[in-house]
Amino acid sequence: MTQLFKNYLKQNNYTHFDLKAILFDMDGVLYDSMSAHAKSWQQTMEELGLKTNLAEFYLHEGRTGASTIDILFQRNLNRSATEEEIQRIYKRKSELFVKYNTGNIIPKAKEALDFVKSKRLLPVLVTGSGQPSLLERLDKNFPNIFTSKTMVTAFDVKIGKPHPEPFLMGLQKGGNLAPNQALAIENAPLGTESASKAGIFTIGVNTGPLNDEILENAGAKLVFHSMSELLDKFPEILDITSAVKVRIGH
Ligand code: MG
Repeated sequence: MTQLFKNYLKQNNYTHFDLKAILFDMDGVLYDSMSAHAKSWQQTMEELGLKTNLAEFYLHEGRTGASTIDILFQRNLNRSATEEEIQRIYKRKSELFVKYNTGNIIPKAKEALDFVKSKRLLPVLVTGSGQPSLLERLDKNFPNIFTSKTMVTAFDVKIGKPHPEPFLMGLQKGGNLAPNQALAIENAPLGTESASKAGIFTIGVNTGPLNDEILENAGAKLVFHSMSELLDKFPEILDITSAVKVRIGH
């Protein structure tokens, strides 16, 4: 595993890590909410007579609602969605999401956040979600972990994932950090792409139905299959990041 961290440092011209924060995505990383998102999106689009398939919503995960709607409009109707349509469709999708979402958290997500805090690293949330039903519950489900100063949500970003913007904002909210001062934890290809393009060492936690290769191709340096596996490996990861050094220019 050490070699993966060395490769990252060399590729990004850093001599070492100086970890201060861990940037966590929300859906599929902290909340077991992705199947409810996919089901709500699919039903919303079918009600409008638009053709979709369930798997594509796992590929779109992390996009803003507006962007997802626009992609489906372009493909099915050869035109952009209007602002009014976007608002109405996203509202319907959100209603269905509230109906289908179990509210379950991903096993060991809380323990992973607590572990990060116990190591005096700052947990920062970086989500494309604007779903009040989840955002408002964060503090209840994960007490004393995030504050508004350490959260990037749909309300903060203009562009959204897969653009690096959300993770660059996450670095800022983490304390104006450089990319080698953080790690990113993502379950989705577009989020992984966003974090990788922001220059951050990105760990994929593949909690959904997509193949690991999709996350690797999006830039994940390591892929685990559960937060439990990440939690098991976290001590080793932190040991490596504090020890590993490379000479640059070689
Ligand atoms: Mg996610």
